[in-house]
Amino acid sequence: MKEVIEFRINNRYANLLLQPNEIKSNSTNTVIYVAKDDEKFEKIRILTKQIREKYNDFFFLYSNIKREYGKKELESSSLLNIKIKTTFEPAGEECGTVYDETTACKICGANRKQVGFLKLKRDSIPKKDIARTIAGEVLVSEKFVIAIEQRGLRGMSLEKVSYAEGFSNYYQLTASSPQLELSKDTIAGVNIFDMSESSDVLELILSKKYPVKLDREVYKCPKGHTIGLNLLSEPYVLKITVIDEYDYFVSRQKIGVKRGLLRPEPIYLCSQSFRTMVLEEKLTGFDFEIAHI
Ligand SMILES: [Zn+2]
Repeated sequence: MKEVIEFRINNRYANLLLQPNEIKSNSTNTVIYVAKDDEKFEKIRILTKQIREKYNDFFFLYSNIKREYGKKELESSSLLNIKIKTTFEPAGEECGTVYDETTACKICGANRKQVGFLKLKRDSIPKKDIARTIAGEVLVSEKFVIAIEQRGLRGMSLEKVSYAEGFSNYYQLTASSPQLELSKDTIAGVNIFDMSESSDVLELILSKKYPVKLDREVYKCPKGHTIGLNLLSEPYVLKITVIDEYDYFVSRQKIGVKRGLLRPEPIYLCSQSFRTMVLEEKLTGFDFEIAHI
């Protein structure tokens, strides 16, 4: 496995790291890819700290860990992490989906209960075989449903997605298998340099008279529902005896935060038979990484 980190460097400070000809001049940021053993990686860590302390600003605006696997590596893993490539809006809540928030954790917002069908807006759903809304509602195409039925894959529960009038051709996918427990080896945080378990209290001064105070966001729930804002490592799960009996799972612990329509979301995991199906049937919208048992 080859791991590189994508950084979008804030062009205000990019000259501290990059040559003038490396900086994308017609943009606010410059995208670079850096391995952890690259000397730039350590420089970015130091500059991030300095820019924060000196100017209360960000040296990079976004980071993302990219993992490249050999074909054999992916083929030999019995458990895989499903990365859903497409995210869309509006979310269910904006389209009339009902949630019972009384079941949700008061601290992190995880585990609210959906009541009835997932309702979405006609024409908003991407033409993919899997996609998720910004609120973490996962849906799949009819082609996907036919493929899992033909192959007898287990662990999935499917319900039609409805529109304001009538039903769509899409299905909401949830797991009917036991939730998998993430082990302590699974690392989550704000980004690769920032393991904060919550945000600071933010005070936005838009007008001097009415400062807006934003609540502190909790990324790592003391009750154990959430483990961090973003998943930074490959997932590690504890072995359960029935793991071979299912092809689709979600993790018990969630990643993310309650913010507007956003809610903490589990990690999605699958068997090698599931991945084979996706490849053979040419199902779109999936990416896979290795998960460890
Ligand atoms: Zn919680």
